[in-house]
Amino acid sequence: MLKLFNSLSRKLEEFKPIKPKEVGLYTCGPTVYNYAHIGNLRTYLFEDFLRRILVYNGFKVNHVMNMTDVGHLSGDQDFGEDKMEKEGGDAAEIMTLAKKYTDAFLADIDKLNILRADVIAPATGNIVEQVELIKTLLEKRFAYETELAIYFDVARLADYPKLTNQKLSDMKVAARSDVIIDQNKKHPADFALWFKLAGRYKNHILRWPSPWGDGFPGWHIECSAMSRKYLGQPFDIHTGGVDHLFPHHPNEIAQSEAAFGVPLANYWLHGEHLLINDGRMAKSEGNFITLQTLIDREFNPLAFRYLALTTHYRSRLNWTWESLLGAKNALYNLYAQISVLEMAAGGAKEFEQAFEEAINDDLNTAQALAVVWDLIHSEEESSAKLASLLKFDQVLGLKFKEAWIAGRDIPAAIKQLVIEREGARAAKDFQKADELRRQIEAAGFTLEDTIDGWRLKKKF
Ligand SMILES: [Zn+2]
Repeated sequence: MLKLFNSLSRKLEEFKPIKPKEVGLYTCGPTVYNYAHIGNLRTYLFEDFLRRILVYNGFKVNHVMNMTDVGHLSGDQDFGEDKMEKEGGDAAEIMTLAKKYTDAFLADIDKLNILRADVIAPATGNIVEQVELIKTLLEKRFAYETELAIYFDVARLADYPKLTNQKLSDMKVAARSDVIIDQNKKHPADFALWFKLAGRYKNHILRWPSPWGDGFPGWHIECSAMSRKYLGQPFDIHTGGVDHLFPHHPNEIAQSEAAFGVPLANYWLHGEHLLINDGRMAKSEGNFITLQTLIDREFNPLAFRYLALTTHYRSRLNWTWESLLGAKNALYNLYAQISVLEMAAGGAKEFEQAFEEAINDDLNTAQALAVVWDLIHSEEESSAKLASLLKFDQVLGLKFKEAWIAGRDIPAAIKQLVIEREGARAAKDFQKADELRRQIEAAGFTLEDTIDGWRLKKKF
């Protein structure tokens, strides 16, 4: 039985899909105005663990992800500059930039062995659906028009904002100290569904026709429109980072539920932040680390995946280079152990049960990794170990099969020396590690440490 922590109820709940054996999953995607940093990537890793665990449990997953390429203003509020337009240029140049960062994002997630969503939908490719949804909200009087924009009327919903502990009355006080750009907003917390080409956005470059004149959509409406288009409403699981707990997700819920009178999604999951030096990662803080930064320092991207697995998705991960190095050593040690196993057959049932219990306990991947190591160190048959590990890797995504294949054609005695050397390195006994390397080379093999782990070659 799969249990998930639902942000809506703030409780651990048994997962019950709408359709038997099928899951609709919507994960909020990136705003493609820059490279993703490793804090962003941690969220996509958590969502990948979730998706793979659903598949492991026998569900067919329909996974939809949006790409925000218009309407996300700096600061996540309804003022500030459109993130996409910050760099300047005409419409074609802005779209070229969006393409560049979309491609970079997809390349990053491929390197992390994150499965791509079945549908990857850009906001600018679904403007008509967003306009239709805004029309529905106006007809049902959940929205109103000013000279500058169309706003969602938050006071019309008794339970706005869902997912947070905030009350609307408190938000009014808080928002008063902010800059209120549009004096005709009914409530400071009302958020924009559509911006007109007026006021600050008079010269906004990305623009589309609408019944209210040319303009561009607000940030939140794209997810309401596209999740409904591709998954229907309600669908099963909606996810994102904890920074979406407000304002993005409550605003998605407000739009979709006001328009159609049914819930948007049944389960909401949120991944915690990755912290660096106990602070949030941001370009302005000078601590903006991308996947390429790790690769430049010769880290295998899967070492970062291993590190993400070691911390529960609802706990903060305090990131350091030392923790990444520890994850890399553990991963390569694991690869060395796997490379000496016999052809897969059967399976270690007890361990498979423990693994399943861990992942089904709100994605306890740290415990699942502990099961992996227990199995490695157990007395189970070598072939059973490999069979179970390959099965576990459907969830872990650490490429165990590749590690095993790479270990073929090398005498067992030599592989044993490599395992001992990985163990010595993990224990920081570098003298012993060097001695073992000399033994391996004396036996006629060269041992190279590469970004993908070690590589053994026969000397000729
Ligand atoms: Zn979203």
